[in-house]
Amino acid sequence: MPNPLAAGVDIGGTNMVAALVHTTTAEVVIRASIPTEPRRGPEDGFRRLGDLIARLCAEAGVRPADLAGIGVGCTSPIDSERGLVNNPYTLPTWENAPLLPTLMARFGLPGVLLNDAHVAALGEYWAGAGRGARTLIYVTVGTGVGGGIIINGRLHRGVGLLAGEIGHQAIDVNGPMCYCGARGCLEMLAAAPAIERFARERAMESGRMLTLADGDPERITARIVYEAAKAGDPVAVGLMAQTGFYLGVGIANLMNILAPDVVILGGGVAQGWDLLYPSLRETIDARGGMIPFEEVRIEQAALGLNAGVIGAVRGILDHLAGTL
Ligand SMILES: [Zn+2]
Repeated sequence: MPNPLAAGVDIGGTNMVAALVHTTTAEVVIRASIPTEPRRGPEDGFRRLGDLIARLCAEAGVRPADLAGIGVGCTSPIDSERGLVNNPYTLPTWENAPLLPTLMARFGLPGVLLNDAHVAALGEYWAGAGRGARTLIYVTVGTGVGGGIIINGRLHRGVGLLAGEIGHQAIDVNGPMCYCGARGCLEMLAAAPAIERFARERAMESGRMLTLADGDPERITARIVYEAAKAGDPVAVGLMAQTGFYLGVGIANLMNILAPDVVILGGGVAQGWDLLYPSLRETIDARGGMIPFEEVRIEQAALGLNAGVIGAVRGILDHLAGTL
């Protein structure tokens, strides 16, 4: 009987995390990470990642061939259909790099490659804040704004398998130009770089933000905005509320279309939950004229750093079940 474990992998620009995850309970049995070091080239990275999976199997006393499969979540852009990573921005040299075919060939196992927001959505749905939901919207807010949408228990992937680019919906059609070619995208208004941009414009009004940034407005980060707001600085409090407002407008748009049970907010900016949530919830509830928005749970992501590996395993399990 095959071992009830599968490998989950989570690849970011800085670290690659691998774990063995129980396929029934979603328990992370063993986990380790290594630096991604993309400039050493994709072949080197794939070999080290494979060695990491092999080491975890040895430590857990499992033969790799007995794993159910390998699920991989990776920072976009990726080619999910062919298992390629094509991300010269975050992973320099990883251009059309055959990540998934390399791992599948080495271990003789089935595999899937999904973007990091999709695996986080699957993870939260399976074992985190979205447990028990039927339809779920996962929004990640950090350097960018991404997302994953689960409809009736299945990840909605759409054409090109990339559905869920929540950050590129227009919130302010006259707003700042986005790299995607549109104006006023949610990402340009609510991601960490946007918070920093707004904060730097108003730095001279906020003694606390300026002090935390050693007097240099250019050194204000989203974390400094959060810390200043936590300490009661009115400008910073306003910036956090503004972020909650923009996210609320974007999330309410999606809620009107999808009527989810649960909306989950993850990513670095979501760590400012206590200061974001009041304006986020108020903005959403003010837009729920047609659908009972008050029945929708809006929650902070629960799996933290394990969302990627757990969700990646859910991805391979759904793939094996024919429901991905
Ligand atoms: Zn955009």
